[in-house]
Amino acid sequence: RQEQYRALRDVPAITRDGLRIGLHLNAGLLVDLAHLQETGAEGIGLFRTELQFMVAERMPSAVEQQNLYEAVFAATGDKPVTIRTLDIGGDKILPYMPKLEEENPALGWRAIRIGLDRPALLRVQLRALLKASGGRPLKIMFPMVATVDEFVRAKAIVDREKAHLRRHGHPLPSDCRLGAMIEVPSLLFQLDELTSHADFLSVGSNDLMQFLFAVDRENRRVADRFDPLSAPALRAFRIIAERAQAAGCPVTVCGEIGGRPLEAMALIGLGFRDLSMSPAAIGPVKATVLSMDAAAVGALIETELARGSEGESLRPALTAFAKAQ
Ligand code: PEP
Ligand code: MG
Repeated sequence: RQEQYRALRDVPAITRDGLRIGLHLNAGLLVDLAHLQETGAEGIGLFRTELQFMVAERMPSAVEQQNLYEAVFAATGDKPVTIRTLDIGGDKILPYMPKLEEENPALGWRAIRIGLDRPALLRVQLRALLKASGGRPLKIMFPMVATVDEFVRAKAIVDREKAHLRRHGHPLPSDCRLGAMIEVPSLLFQLDELTSHADFLSVGSNDLMQFLFAVDRENRRVADRFDPLSAPALRAFRIIAERAQAAGCPVTVCGEIGGRPLEAMALIGLGFRDLSMSPAAIGPVKATVLSMDAAAVGALIETELARGSEGESLRPALTAFAKAQ
């Protein structure tokens, strides 16, 4: 199997009906970047910057942050990288930051909420990123956005940093794109407003499912109380794919779901064209892409959803379909 997947490394991921699918990697530490070569992935679809902060003994300085991002860009060369700003709080604790007592940390002061309330932290990170990417394209996305206003405010902070660097004669990124992660279900009902501000979207399905089904992703007792291939989950994914496509806004799925072959097949059937996943998932997902007919999967999902089997999983139907391919 491993050999078989390795042989697919340089084979483009194209479905039987001719759709080109972008397979990207999730990464967070410099060592992860070696997998780019080895897997033949198109780029880094999600770079989790907080990992570097979590393994550090103290808050990395501005210079240290810039060095880190320069190293990331050096290691990825011409391949695109999407950098996510600090996603701390909740289950991601920085050992050198005061611990917060929160009743519901997953719903608490975390990610972009901290970034907007303590803009100094976000500004240092953005400035380091902008400096490190001088002269090359840069894609930045914000985690745990719940309202369009939060995204607009985060974007304004980037604009201020860009203006600051420009005034000081620093080279800016050749192309700077800003995206929102779709992790909070409230965004499902603001997609048109959001796509009018965002350059791209990225679906953080781990958190999106956690909040959609009110199932703590860290709590094993409840973790399998829902299926991401059930009708409500697929409808959530479908509306994202549809609205993004209608707005001409690129969208990637970067949660764990994109790295599971059956789920990846369903997402492609729903209209997603870019998935970001762990290195070990690239081979199996590529094999699925090569064997599938996206239009047929889409039609199967539409039929099943229209049957109105509310809450039931489409997993058995999709499994049977995949076997017959
Ligand atoms: C997600 O929530 O799906 C995601 C990609 O972010 P993380 O797993 O880092 O929360
Ligand atoms: Mg998340």
